[in-house]
Order: sequence, then structure tokens, then C-alpha cells
Amino acid sequence: MRAMVLDRPHQPLRLATRPEPELADGQVLIKVAACGVCRTDLHVVDGELPQTRYPIVPGHEIVGEVVRAGAAARGFSPGERVGVPWLGWTCGQCRYCRAGQENLCDNARFTGCNIDGGYEELVAADARFCFRLPAGYGDAEAAPLLCAGLIGHRAHRMVGEAEHIGIYGFGAAAHIMAQVARHQGQQVYAFTRPGDRPAQEFAGELGATWVGGSDESPPRILDAAIIFAPVGSLVPAALRAVRKAGVVIAAGIHMSDIPSFPYEILWGERAVRSVANLTRVDGEDFLRLAGQMRIETRVTTFPLAEANEALTRLREGRLTGAAVLVPAA
Ligand SMILES: [Zn+2]
Ligand SMILES: [Zn+2]
Repeated sequence: MRAMVLDRPHQPLRLATRPEPELADGQVLIKVAACGVCRTDLHVVDGELPQTRYPIVPGHEIVGEVVRAGAAARGFSPGERVGVPWLGWTCGQCRYCRAGQENLCDNARFTGCNIDGGYEELVAADARFCFRLPAGYGDAEAAPLLCAGLIGHRAHRMVGEAEHIGIYGFGAAAHIMAQVARHQGQQVYAFTRPGDRPAQEFAGELGATWVGGSDESPPRILDAAIIFAPVGSLVPAALRAVRKAGVVIAAGIHMSDIPSFPYEILWGERAVRSVANLTRVDGEDFLRLAGQMRIETRVTTFPLAEANEALTRLREGRLTGAAVLVPAA
């Protein structure tokens, strides 16, 4: 089978032919139909995540069909459509696992980071961490739900009932979250790279109340802000945009350094917090919601062998919505 392999950081991925993965206990073998390209994959390529094992096959927004189930793999039968997210394995025993915070597991393994991911034709995954996907979404359309959608959902939940929500960075996660927020009657204020007209138009099409550059001020004080762009200087910018008791959520796995800022913009019980990974409960909640409402995921598909091109387009901001690799293309 073909796989796109990252041998070490800062290299292009290499198209390789590999034997079919061997199944460990509890795993299913999945024929990959589509795999989303996430900003986290760029952090893996750039060597910014210390837990990454190299060589690695990236990709953690996998949609595919179960080929067969290994010993003790429960829940999925051959032929079933399945989704594989970033959280690939947890220990079940550390203080976080026991407290229902498996997203913070001390011993977690992550798909496309220290378990081979979906930039390949066949992937092995622990059945306990796979999801059923809602009908009504094509394979490529469903792929971004598995990380962009899930992480956006976890971040969105942290802003609670906020009525006016700022979103910094209008890529794959934001475009899904904005639709859910609008569906729930919340107002979205979209901040893009200054002058990024395509992203601003896209945010407008998805119902943003206001769109502008991250160097602009919104037309009103916001109740909360979510930062999807990996840019630390957005933290003080967002703090300045939110009201007293407002929360600023950093939703990326990696961010450039946050510049120092005056205490007065945090004062007033404003809070800054990060979102890390996902729990299986998050996944089930969000995919249920995606089945109840219609989320229009905007995807650009690439053949598997063009993974490097997809990553470059993402890095340069030359994508609207999400890039998705389709091995059969
Ligand atoms: Zn654990
Ligand atoms: Zn991701």
C-alpha cells in the first residue's frame, strides 16, 4: 500500500510503498477514503511537537471503511464507515483518565503523531477511539469534522452562552464552528490575516456579523474570543476585544510566543485558557450535533501523492476551508 511518510522534521513527505499494517489487539484495519489536512500536521512537519515519533505518517482526520477487525476489537464490522480522530489511545489509569479528562492523559498516543495516521491507503486504529459518522456527509466532507470540527466544538463549549464571539483565524475549524454558533443564535465576529479578502468573504458567506483583519477593532465589545491561528500576538489583541469576565480560548496545539501585555487588559476577571485534544465524549457529542444540523464543510481535495502541495497551501493560507487527501483520486 502507498503511504506518505515524514522521515524527519523539515523534510517533504516521501511517497513510499509499505506492507499492510499489522493489527494489534483491539485494532481495526481501515481502508482510508479521505483524510483531512490539519494545521497540527504542519507542526509535526516542523518538529514543534515533542511527542512526535519519526518516521511518521501524518493525518488525524480519517474517514474510511473497516476492512477487518483484529482480536478483541469491538464495535465495528467489516464494511462499516468509521472516523479516526487525533486521540488514538489513552492509559485509562492516570489521574486525568480517571477524572473524565482523557484529553489530558499523561500517556496518551495521538494519531499521525506517535501512531501512524491517515496519509496512507490502509491504517490501523484502536476501535475504542473510532467514531461512527453521521449519514448525509460524503467522505471528504466528513473528514474535517474529525479534528477541525471536534476541537472547534470543545473550544466553543468553553465560551458557554456568550452571545458575541470573536474568532481569530478563519480556516477549517472556524468555518465549522461559525456555522454551529450561528445555528445556536450566537453572533460571530471573524478576524483574518489583514487583507485576506478570500477568508473575509468566506466568513461573510457563513453568516459572520462582522469580518475584518486581526489588526482591526470589532464594532462592539465581545463576550468571548477563540483563537485558531497559531499567533501569540493575538492573545493580547483578543483580551483587548473582550468584556469583563470574558474568556479568550487558545485552540491550537502550538502557538508562537505571547508578547508581554499590561495587566489591565486581563484585569476584570478576564481569562485566558487553552484547549487540548479531545475526549471521546466530545466526539460523540459533536458528531451527534453534526447529524442533527447540516454543516457545510468546504473542502479542496488532493490525491494522496500531493500531500506536500496540500500542506504548502495550508501553510501559505491559500485554502478556503479544509484540504482533504483522497487516496483513490
Ligand atoms: Zn491516562
Ligand atoms: Zn487536527
